[in-house]
Amino acid sequence: MRQSEFFMPTLKEIPAEAEAKSHQLMLRAGLVRKVAAGVYTFLPAGNRVLRKIENIVREEMNRFGAQEILMPAIQPRELWEKSGRWQAYGPEMMRLKDRKGRDFALGPTHEELITDIVKNEIRSYKDLPLNLYQIQPKFRDEPRPRFGVIRAREFIMKDAYSFDIDEKGLALSYEKMRKAYVNICKRCGLDYKIVSATTGLIGGKVSEEFMALADIGEDSIFYCEKCGYSANRELAKSIRHYHWENKEHEIEKVYTPGIMTVEEVASFLKVPSYKLAKTLIYRTDKGFLATIVSGDREAIEAKIIEASGASEIELLNPEDFDELGIPFGYVGPKGLKEKLKDIIVILDSRLVNASELVVGANEKNYHLRGVSAKRDFDYDLIFDVAESLPGDLCPKCENPLTQAQAIEVGHIFQLGTKYSESMKAFFSDEKGELRPFYMGCYGIGVSRIIAAVIEQYSDEKGIKWPFSLAPFEVHIILLLTDNKEASETAEKLYQNLSSCGYETLFDDRDETPGVKFADADLAGIPILIVVGKKFRDTGNVEVKWRFSGETYEIPPDKLVSFVEEIKNK
Ligand code: ATP
Ligand code: MG
Repeated sequence: MRQSEFFMPTLKEIPAEAEAKSHQLMLRAGLVRKVAAGVYTFLPAGNRVLRKIENIVREEMNRFGAQEILMPAIQPRELWEKSGRWQAYGPEMMRLKDRKGRDFALGPTHEELITDIVKNEIRSYKDLPLNLYQIQPKFRDEPRPRFGVIRAREFIMKDAYSFDIDEKGLALSYEKMRKAYVNICKRCGLDYKIVSATTGLIGGKVSEEFMALADIGEDSIFYCEKCGYSANRELAKSIRHYHWENKEHEIEKVYTPGIMTVEEVASFLKVPSYKLAKTLIYRTDKGFLATIVSGDREAIEAKIIEASGASEIELLNPEDFDELGIPFGYVGPKGLKEKLKDIIVILDSRLVNASELVVGANEKNYHLRGVSAKRDFDYDLIFDVAESLPGDLCPKCENPLTQAQAIEVGHIFQLGTKYSESMKAFFSDEKGELRPFYMGCYGIGVSRIIAAVIEQYSDEKGIKWPFSLAPFEVHIILLLTDNKEASETAEKLYQNLSSCGYETLFDDRDETPGVKFADADLAGIPILIVVGKKFRDTGNVEVKWRFSGETYEIPPDKLVSFVEEIKNK
């Protein structure tokens, strides 16, 4: 492709609206343009990268036996009513009406649609297992579209759905998709971790996320370098050996007027915040529930749900405390069950051996000091319900855990029979009995991967594409535009490389060397070939590997074989 004809509008300045490095570079390198918040057009270079990711995804899905289909973005309300998600999806779902006033959704995901298709077409166990996928735009009215294509409102996803006769079959289908995802992440060059995850609105029991490590990542993960344990912050369990004196203290009631928050109490009583046991009260579908966690941690709702079996939980507001007869800001675990009879109390496992704690006295303006968890707390169960923090130890091998920020690029789920039961999707088994399909679903953010890769492959000058995703493999820049011999050599190199199958961008523009170099660094094509001053002096061209910055001087007739060599390095 001749750059003089290629539509790649680059920007010198860093666009003010872009916080993330990848967002800035995608705009500056002319990969995308914004249409509205979280809505983007992919320009030719961006579209080439998108196609490369799609092809990798397609190859890996096909390799593991999935078959490609294409479902519509527009989905009728009735299907979503059947699964109960027309309501549950809330404002994140983009909705519209047709001219007759019928409701439709712009698909945020396709479990309902695919289940309906399979329900109508597959009758017998003989037709299973089946795995269908598509690569297609998804719509989600995200509350905070951010970071360009990372959290967009219209984005490209590959979603696959597997159907099996039983749990064992589902586990096999899941394992295949997991392998496909590992291959996809590797081929895209990503530095990633696989972590166990919560299933959220999609549902099911088992799920794992594929997380690309990046400082701007909105997810926080914990992993153990020694035994391989890894989990999303929402699920990560951990051990912490806090220092307790292990002396039995007399309980002392202290006057703490107007002092309520962890920070205030810790500084007023001069104790480290972990020695404050914080009691949080929730309203749940199983009644009132309290968690007791150390003052330096948040309690995690997903963990409380796991511990209690509740399905809905909501932290109480300060106003709700009056009706309970306990003072907001001074709630504590000692005697709590006398005040609230049926409350379920969960003690965070890190506090089991805690002594010399400070807790609320369940009396306005008072705290208790010298409290011991085993001796003084009323609790029903011990569970890891608090967040993990850096410095905590692995729950399996007690090695220190590593915490990192990450971008979720893929998420795979064992759904079980959630959708097949609610949508009455059954097949007949060997005995002719009707049974619900066991389903799995597997999503990967094709457009989000572009940004995740740029977060990992870039420097202050621009992108540094891995070969597998680069919009072009080789970039020739001709600096001596008025030198006939140089122009002819560059032209010949362009022809030779292209005919040998290299995707080559040829900067034949009438621009200054400064502009050409700046654009080349921004574009980040892996191999840069410069026909410039060196050529005039020695007859050689310069070759620069964008990834490492290494440069070489090569005679033009050896160039094609040299390019082959670096590409395979
Ligand atoms: P997140 O927690 O980031 O909102 P999710 O759990 O809602 O993601 P899934 O429903 O599992 O995501 O979707 C599958 C994949 O689609 C995600 O792993 C991610 O790569 C991609 N994805 C999800 N939401 C967006 C979005 N708003 N913009 C771009 N890609 C997205
Ligand atoms: Mg989401």
